[in-house]
Amino acid sequence: MTVTADAGTTTLDLGPAHALSCRECGHQVPLAPEFACAECFGPLEVAYQFGDISRAAIEAGPRSIWRYRHLLPVPSDVDKYPNTDPGLTRLVKADRLAAALGVKSLWVKDDTGNPTHSFKDRVVAVALAAARQLGFTVLACPSTGNLANAVAAAAARAGWESVVLIPSSLERAKVLTTAVYDGALIAVDGNYDDVNRLATELAAEHEDWAFVNVNVRPYYAEGSKTLGYEVAEQLGWRLPDQIVVPIASGAQLTKVDKGFREFAHLGLVEDKPYRVFGAQATGCSPVSAAYKAGLDVVSPVKPDTIARSLAIGAPADGPYVLDAVRRTNGAIEDVSDEEVVEGIRLLARTEGIFAETAGGVTVATAKKLIETGQLDPDAETVLLITGDGLKTLDAVQDRIGPRATVPPSAAAVLKALES
Ligand SMILES: *Cc1c(COP(=O)(O)O)cnc(C)c1O
Ligand SMILES: [Zn+2]
Repeated sequence: MTVTADAGTTTLDLGPAHALSCRECGHQVPLAPEFACAECFGPLEVAYQFGDISRAAIEAGPRSIWRYRHLLPVPSDVDKYPNTDPGLTRLVKADRLAAALGVKSLWVKDDTGNPTHSFKDRVVAVALAAARQLGFTVLACPSTGNLANAVAAAAARAGWESVVLIPSSLERAKVLTTAVYDGALIAVDGNYDDVNRLATELAAEHEDWAFVNVNVRPYYAEGSKTLGYEVAEQLGWRLPDQIVVPIASGAQLTKVDKGFREFAHLGLVEDKPYRVFGAQATGCSPVSAAYKAGLDVVSPVKPDTIARSLAIGAPADGPYVLDAVRRTNGAIEDVSDEEVVEGIRLLARTEGIFAETAGGVTVATAKKLIETGQLDPDAETVLLITGDGLKTLDAVQDRIGPRATVPPSAAAVLKALES
């Protein structure tokens, strides 16, 4: 299948998106399912021509990411097509976690509330909307888990076929919560980086498959901007001082930063300095290692961590994460699997929010950044909690459970409570 922007019979309506632009050399190409620059092989990114956008217009929009449709590569009537319509998840004032961490003002952006319980619904919804305009009918991906859920669910809702590739070692919950949508789910003997290579090969052979994070990646990645938009809108149309973002490929971190800059540029919030911090698990911390070594390039690693949704050893956006973090005077830290579990439990017992391992990474990293004096405890801080703990029960199952098992007698319960 060939897709051209001026095919005559089809009109390509991707809203304010007007071209793809190379992040390395700036070379521009027409909107198409492409992801690498023909001149320098650099990654392509969506370039926009925004119209006038007001706070009131956004507030009057749908209660989903589509309230920001005039800032995304999607048609203006995007909410008329079947999609998962994620977003507008709650921003929680986390006073008890703030006290535990010794921070003055802390917010948790709780993205467990999305349709398949992770932030991946945002990127997939945008990828699906763009892919539809680009003429695709099959939605595909290589995934570390959450993306598999989101792609399979979005394809089911749209009535599309899906092809989802996962490492065979994936958590059981994430396998089942993908398989239930009844697309084609293929487990591959290999790690995520192997699966990703395989997807790139298949994408080249099957031009009618929209691999959300491969051949339509420029559109997909833009979905993460909505996390930045929502944080700013929900804070009452202002930017936070500091934000802590988990890093897998690094796309989310760079796009949250892009979202903040766009809001400031469009006059939707007051322009002010903010600091972006990155969080990784030590068992897969190539970006943190590069940051600490003062390097501009990221050397791939072989992941070994319970935070499997973040276990990308060769992160595509690594260098751009380093740029964003350094430009905003942030930092990147990494934490052990033990600290990840502690982070999950700390968030749960202070705020009643059960996060997956990626959330544990974010909370534990925030704690470490505070303890090491890198994060300012007096500045307003937002933590991005990007996935639901029910998906990674494996991480906690050996450490938590009932205090006691007792016969059905009040005395036995009271006795158990005493001990
Ligand atoms: C994929 C994922 C991330 C990170 O996304 P990138 O954009 O690849 O850095 C963070 N949290 C969760 C729960 C994820 O599934
Ligand atoms: Zn280029």
